[in-house]
Amino acid sequence: MKRTKIIELLRGELVGQQVNVKGWVRTRRGNKAVAFIALNDGSTIHNLQVVADLANFSDELISKITTGAALSVDGQLVSSQGQGQSVEIQASQIEVLGTADPQTYPLQKKGHSLEFLREIAHLRPRTNTFGAIYRIRHQMSIAIHTYFHERGFIYFHAPIITGSDAEGAGQMFQVTTLPLEATPRLQDGSVDYGQDFFARPTSLTVSGQLEGEMAAMALGAIYTFGPTFRAENSNTARHLAEFWMIEPEVAFYDINDNMDLAEDFIKHCVRWALDHCWDDIQFLSEHFDKELIDRLRFVLEKPFKRMTYTEGIEVLEQAKAAGRKFEFPVYWGADLASEHERYLVEEHYQRPVIVTDYPKEIKSFYMKLNDDGKTVRGMDVLFPKIGEIIGGSEREADYEKLRLRAEEMGVPDKDIWWYLDSRRYGTAPHAGFGLGFERLLLFVTGMANIRDVIPFPRTPRNAEF
Ligand code: ATP
Ligand code: MN
Repeated sequence: MKRTKIIELLRGELVGQQVNVKGWVRTRRGNKAVAFIALNDGSTIHNLQVVADLANFSDELISKITTGAALSVDGQLVSSQGQGQSVEIQASQIEVLGTADPQTYPLQKKGHSLEFLREIAHLRPRTNTFGAIYRIRHQMSIAIHTYFHERGFIYFHAPIITGSDAEGAGQMFQVTTLPLEATPRLQDGSVDYGQDFFARPTSLTVSGQLEGEMAAMALGAIYTFGPTFRAENSNTARHLAEFWMIEPEVAFYDINDNMDLAEDFIKHCVRWALDHCWDDIQFLSEHFDKELIDRLRFVLEKPFKRMTYTEGIEVLEQAKAAGRKFEFPVYWGADLASEHERYLVEEHYQRPVIVTDYPKEIKSFYMKLNDDGKTVRGMDVLFPKIGEIIGGSEREADYEKLRLRAEEMGVPDKDIWWYLDSRRYGTAPHAGFGLGFERLLLFVTGMANIRDVIPFPRTPRNAEF
């Protein structure tokens, strides 16, 4: 018999028919006459109840139906008398496809801690929580591609191995085939990269932006969506060593267009989550974050607050003067710490905030310099509970200014000559931003730790699975 997924069976349209269902046992309970098996196949957070009349099945078979076992069940779909489900399956045949020894299967009882589940990351997809998260992760990917596709953006693939460490976004992971134990050296003692695979130092990319800009200057509007890598040793709940980033880049956009795009895009994603992931979001809200759904709706309602960095510092200084304590210093020129970002969003404005026009010293060389000569047209989108979720800018389109900024920031010409070329030939205003996919997922799922919104997190001293 052809398998039907549980999500379809629960719709109830097949009541009365013979069906086949395959999935994994969540629980088995019952009495001397009948066993009730909660089966889940990943198509939905909800389980299907399998009712097995013990007169029809051997004790041996029933004893193998333990939490985690994989089953194939034939039977009639019927309306359920019991509470908690609308339909159930009256089993006529049960095949145990794979047993799960209850002595060793680690997912026995409910309510394992998230910390414990991280230690069994290979099995945590079997839990309701991670099933929900991975389905939402999928839906958000579709939301992103849909948004850009419908607006004529081209999905552009930036390389993962890069020869330039120009972006300056953080520490990079080196890519090499040279033997670490016997590194070939030149006469002066330095590493002989001529013998390396690419005959030059290379690393994993920290951002696809520079390549994305090359594409935007021909295709008009592009986006990348791929893995990025940062060897920053920041063991926080918001940083991964491997994360996914979405980076749109648009020709002829200035920073205001860029802000409009960022706000519209992120609202689209949040709306999509509410429209397409309702059951999973409701489950996560119930178990982890009672305010989740309110927070999602709240973001959709109001326009984001837009302000300059200088205004932001003023607000923070006023807060300090009024007695608000911050761990990190507040002064013009300092980078905003997460506590500052969250003060602006959660306490002062009580909505998402876009901060623009940062001091040039704390931002990358490619951001467009303002007429004041001190600030650049960068923009960070700050979110409740997360802090920075998007970082972007209008790019410096002027060749001489860009070259000068690169020089001032110590970015060598030999690394970015090709990037500078885009300003020599047919340069034009353009802008773009990077959204950290897992930060978006933190917001949409209400999870508190970024390790819990990516299947196999890579963080300092952790890459086992
Ligand atoms: P932060 O200050 O939070 O470290 P950043 O300024 O280094 O972020 P950008 O270089 O602007 O971030 O990268 C763009 C986006 O990528 C950020 O807004 C964030 O959403 C995401 N991001 C950056 N670093 C990480 C990381 N280590 N893990 C997960 N997401 C990240
Ligand atoms: Mn960072």
